[in-house]
Amino acid sequence: MDKAQLGAGSTVAIIGGGQAGGEAATLLRQNRFEGRIVLIGEEDCLPYMRPPLSKAFLAREIAKDALIYKAATAYENARVEMRLNARVDDIDRRDKRLILNDGATFGYDKLVIATGGRARPLPVPGADARNILYLRTIADVELLQPLMQAGKRLVIVGGGYVGLEVAAVAVKRGLAVTVLESAPRVLARVTAPAMSDFYERIHREAGVDVRTGVTVSGFASENGCVANVLCAGWESFAADFVLIGIGLVPNTELAERAGLDVDDGIVVDAASRSSDPDIYAIGDCAMHAQHGFLQRKIRIESVPNALEQARTVAASITGRPIPEALAPWFWSDQYDLKLQMVGLSDGYEELVIRGKPETPSFIAFYLKDGVIIAADSVNRFGDFMAAKRLVGERIKVAPSRLTDDSVPLKSLLVAAAA
Ligand code: FAD
Repeated sequence: MDKAQLGAGSTVAIIGGGQAGGEAATLLRQNRFEGRIVLIGEEDCLPYMRPPLSKAFLAREIAKDALIYKAATAYENARVEMRLNARVDDIDRRDKRLILNDGATFGYDKLVIATGGRARPLPVPGADARNILYLRTIADVELLQPLMQAGKRLVIVGGGYVGLEVAAVAVKRGLAVTVLESAPRVLARVTAPAMSDFYERIHREAGVDVRTGVTVSGFASENGCVANVLCAGWESFAADFVLIGIGLVPNTELAERAGLDVDDGIVVDAASRSSDPDIYAIGDCAMHAQHGFLQRKIRIESVPNALEQARTVAASITGRPIPEALAPWFWSDQYDLKLQMVGLSDGYEELVIRGKPETPSFIAFYLKDGVIIAADSVNRFGDFMAAKRLVGERIKVAPSRLTDDSVPLKSLLVAAAA
């Protein structure tokens, strides 16, 4: 696209050193961009992977170093200038420059905003107590880890992925864990009732007190620390500490101040371009105006989406074809269960299960007009690979073929192609 104008003298600046920003930086060089690449990141470490924060890292099964997404040499070899521990405070679109918190400024020709998001705060009285924690960064886990002692009472507000993953780690460590979810079921925002029922059962069997339809109304503290979590109605829950996992607020303030279109995310087109043709947005902070695969407006919070948009932006800036949009996918690890999900199940008409939830090894397919629109797989790695293709290629399959474990899923792809 802008190949001619983006020569060796041009600069691409990236704001945000998460997986989206880190991936875009090195991909630009792989795509033979010859100019200057600058990545400015507020955290004091190289881009790292957040998924293990609520899983293996919280459980102390892996060290901090193992979180690092790419070694320092990858950025050195790609000649990416890393400005870590530095925050961009403003974007001056007229002069195409960034203003940093230390007063430094950076000119750019193209700008990639990859500022991610922050944990959504719970706006109820008492929520500023010292022992109320959130989970988004390494620093957050380092506050949480010393509290994870057997016998302690942990109340988790929010029965989404982060809350349930922490519950699994904590109950395994011998903590008394309560999960409070305001919706009628856990994982309500992301999966179908059958999957919610399965995970509620698994957690209860492991000893977690899962309460749904419970709304937290405030916290009662003693000496600045929460002692009781108060709920609408009469119930309250004693706690030694509290984790709030109720979702994410996208970091869009910079874009808003700069006058870009923002609607629960920086609105971008299929090339990840914002309402300013020289500014792109990728990852958790970006709102797809029309997701190429889902054909709807959506903001996606997942590593695969962050990496896919990094590929898109690198292609777009270097004038290469935009990669095809894929069906979104996600994973979650709880206990010895590996959940992998592809597509979006909302609007499904039929649910078909292959395998046995009791074993536990199964895959749930969601069908609409006979087409597989989504699949949730538990401990079925091979089947999940095939399911990604079945969903991605919008395959129409008779439910009886899906439930029959003797029919390899791969053969359904072949049959559909024939
Ligand atoms: P981020 O990782 O949030 O990175 C953005 C970076 O930008 C941050 O370092 C931030 O400090 C920096 N920044 C913000 N503003 C500025 C500024 N003004 N100047 C400079 N820097 C700035 N996804 C999955 O697919 N599977 C999982 O199992 C999974 N588990 C997760 C578990 C947890 C506990 C969390 C928190 C997330 C999980 N996710 C998972 C989501 C996934 O980690 C995110 O979708 C992904 O990290 C998004 O990457 P990003 O680069 O867009 O944003």
